[in-house]
Amino acid sequence: MASTDVAAEVKAQTTQVEEPAKVTRHQEVGHKSLLQSDALYQYILETSVYPREPEPLKELREVTAKHPWNLMTTSADEGQFLGLLLKLINAKNTMEIGVYTGYSLLSTALALPDDGKILAMDINRENYDLGLPMIEKAGVAHKIDFREGPALPLLDEMVKNEEMQGSFDFVFVDADKDNYLNYHRRLIDLVAPPDAPLRKYVRYYRDFVMELNKALAADPRIEISQIPVGDGVTLCRRNY
Ligand code: SAM
Repeated sequence: MASTDVAAEVKAQTTQVEEPAKVTRHQEVGHKSLLQSDALYQYILETSVYPREPEPLKELREVTAKHPWNLMTTSADEGQFLGLLLKLINAKNTMEIGVYTGYSLLSTALALPDDGKILAMDINRENYDLGLPMIEKAGVAHKIDFREGPALPLLDEMVKNEEMQGSFDFVFVDADKDNYLNYHRRLIDLVAPPDAPLRKYVRYYRDFVMELNKALAADPRIEISQIPVGDGVTLCRRNY
């Protein structure tokens, strides 16, 4: 037994108070992942994220890492996810609330087509200016309309404008969490609904099917599995 172990044992016997497990900070800047293992998170970054990270994003990440509030940054894995998602939904007109130095903003700008647009808002322009040279270097600054100031009054203005209703394909909210419900109440009018409206017969039967699903879920005599194939199949097995 090493001498430090002996010391720890003696201390435990004399104090009889259980020491809490030593908690250390995550090593990676921007590690806010629910994954508690640094090693696993590092593996994901090094295997799937960093090798695919465009150079300007990498530079922006490194500049941000030196900033005192770097904990606020969007992490590289989240940026990658965001970019893929935007491409999958063919987003063109988006909004971002909470820019900081612009990691998510640049991820978004890189994912949008050349004529894509991002309305970006933040109360702090100084931090945005830190990342701006990398955004310019990436050749995507023309997609960004940055507005300095609190987002809510701007959203209120937009909600009043008929032309802006349903005009955004995607909104990334990453700002003051105590306002998220307020953002949601305004954004619901500003984001576009899916472009294919429900067909008449689907709309007619929708409520009946929802009622059925609720009843099936509450019925202890059956096991169920809802399968999202075609217009939906619910498999039921009678238990007794
Ligand atoms: N998405 C950013 C990124 O990729 O690095 C991180 C955003 S950081 C978590 C939160 C940002 O929200 C800060 O830059 C802060 O200035 C901004 N913010 C806080 N309150 C705000 C408000 N009421 N309106 C707009 N921006 C706000």
